[in-house]
Amino acid sequence: DLSLTVPPIRTTCPYCGVGCGVLASPNGNGGTTIAGDPEHPANFGRLCSKGSALGETLSFDGRLLHPMMREANGRMSQVSWDAALGRVAAGFRETMKRHGPESIAFYVSGQLLTEDYYVANKLMKGFLGSGNIDTNSRLCMASSVAGHKRAFGADTVPGAYEDLDNAELLVLVGSNAAWCHPILHQRMVRTRQTRGARIVVIDPRRTATAEDADLVLQIAPGTDGVLFSGLLAHVAAKKALDGDFIGAHTSGFAAALDLAEAIAPDPDMVARAVRVARKDVATFFDWFRVTEKVVTLYSQGVNQSAQGTDKVNAIINCHLATGRVGRAGMGPFSLTGQPNAMGGRETGGLANQLAAHMDFEPECVDRVRRFWNAPAMARTPGLKAVDLFEAVEAGRIKALWIMATNPAVSLPRADAMRDALGKLDLFVVSEAVASNDTLAARPMVLLPAATWGEKDGSVTNSERRISRQRAFLVPPGEAKPDWWIVCEVAKRLGFGRAFAYHYAYEIFREHAALSAFENDGTRDFDLSGLSNLTPADYNELAPVQWPVRDSKSKGQARLFGDGRFFTPDAKARFVTIDPPALAEMPAHAFPYLLNTGRVRDHWHTMTRTGKSPRLSGHIDEPFVEISPAGAAASNLADGSLARLTSAHGSAVLRVKVGEGQRDGELFAPIHWNGETASHGRLGALVHQARDPHSGQPDLKATPVSIAPV
Ligand code: SF4
Repeated sequence: DLSLTVPPIRTTCPYCGVGCGVLASPNGNGGTTIAGDPEHPANFGRLCSKGSALGETLSFDGRLLHPMMREANGRMSQVSWDAALGRVAAGFRETMKRHGPESIAFYVSGQLLTEDYYVANKLMKGFLGSGNIDTNSRLCMASSVAGHKRAFGADTVPGAYEDLDNAELLVLVGSNAAWCHPILHQRMVRTRQTRGARIVVIDPRRTATAEDADLVLQIAPGTDGVLFSGLLAHVAAKKALDGDFIGAHTSGFAAALDLAEAIAPDPDMVARAVRVARKDVATFFDWFRVTEKVVTLYSQGVNQSAQGTDKVNAIINCHLATGRVGRAGMGPFSLTGQPNAMGGRETGGLANQLAAHMDFEPECVDRVRRFWNAPAMARTPGLKAVDLFEAVEAGRIKALWIMATNPAVSLPRADAMRDALGKLDLFVVSEAVASNDTLAARPMVLLPAATWGEKDGSVTNSERRISRQRAFLVPPGEAKPDWWIVCEVAKRLGFGRAFAYHYAYEIFREHAALSAFENDGTRDFDLSGLSNLTPADYNELAPVQWPVRDSKSKGQARLFGDGRFFTPDAKARFVTIDPPALAEMPAHAFPYLLNTGRVRDHWHTMTRTGKSPRLSGHIDEPFVEISPAGAAASNLADGSLARLTSAHGSAVLRVKVGEGQRDGELFAPIHWNGETASHGRLGALVHQARDPHSGQPDLKATPVSIAPV
């Protein structure tokens, strides 16, 4: 029995940004036993329902097995890799020749590994001459990136998960961590049980996370900025500022406080604006003021908003004002959604970043150009996700390659975006599965991609920790790693020397070397110590938090403890935020606000979790949650079907009447897209409002109507 003698493979869970370590033990008969890795510092052996069911999701049913091309008669036919790759390369070459580099784009994914991301970004921004590579992570955490850069001068997460063990007050904003980041939530609950830490939950919905909270502020949608402006004003009024820290290590405090006092002068006004009892607002303010060790964790309720970046900065302002950043047990903390949204940020997978956390400043463009010996560097940012697909709709993007994501379900105005794909001259998809809504939009070339367990690479979790994903299965059919597919297209475009990688470790090493190139310590993302890894080093690479500035470094748990930030004057910046407002108010035709999110046991559009009977058994169909008063007013019974309609689309969903929902608001999950009795491609309803700084779409507050079916 080989399973008794072969040690389990150490890898990382492919779902959320917690980045739990997994031990995978293939049994040689197609099955794999999954366990948590007790040595991984993200989870110390624990796994949530999704992670522990990974073994049930590894069948090859429904996989895309071979390269396919559309024939003149519209049918898809199996072709050789060479023919498919040649068609992709020729299509991009021809489109660029006729319409220029701004007519092409890649749309990639937080599911990609860092190595995949690195080569895709290198090809687009260094060799094809366009900035048009963006990622579905734009939908996940772009507002945190923009907020970090405004405050800290770089996209740096200041703290570490161990701060959750040391904190005395844990504030969760716009986060249902109990369902969406379960292992971290369990860690916080343990801190509450063992050390008496308090948990405050701030969310328009009363979610499972509220069950373990000491205080719940069920604020009105879009009012986070009022609450945290009020908190800043309160801390100042009670003389609880850290004047020494503000004076020595920050700039812009006076202006930020003036605006906060204008927006939210006192707890009475704040309570009215956020529509929460005054005593609860006052309790939160007092707890924050008197507790030294505070971690404020925020997630998609903050990020997925037309004012997401301002919300992030309103939170960070409060931590700067009290000097609570960069020290154990305290700090603002962005919970990333996807497994490798962070790795995408590090490699330049966002259209407005270059690579290794560099921006499009001329000296950075030149530095990356020299490092890559790049013939055609992009010099300006490309189109962010929603803008990119609107450019497809407008006919300005002519050739698009989608990798490892399903935008026909997940983008705002998803019906219109799906239809726009039909306008492309060249539409290419790399996918692990053989059918989904994006594939139904009739790509011209389909490239079979290897997926979790079948390829080697790395990911970065929410605390900047780089972990290896390791292969333990042979990919089915002709499926290949995404990095290999990109490199083969690059070779056929004439860039063979720059993309002559044979193994993932070669790409990782180059990625690390780029982060170290001309980096005198003023750039936050620095993997100098990993830039000379041997294949054996890479294979054995233990989870490590960047920066890793030399080969002896064990990584760094926390940044900014010395009061120095990555701004030109090394000071953190307070940010004056815009007065909080919703992008669209509910109106007569669309009187409800629709909030979208996840359920506990499914991930994204369910291509993996949908294979597990155990996970599907938790909630087996799409639903809309409505308050008892709302249900009565709209003549809806619990368990009935209702049609939701917005200005952009509609869906039919099972009604769940729940006390957790505020009157006038609805919640529905994002995962489902099938045509069952209830069917809900929620993206079809969502408006295209987006944050002006981050470009992140507002997925939490679309005006809709609801009526019985
Ligand atoms: Fe996977 Fe996230 Fe669950 Fe950890 S918490 S096992 S990373 S889904």
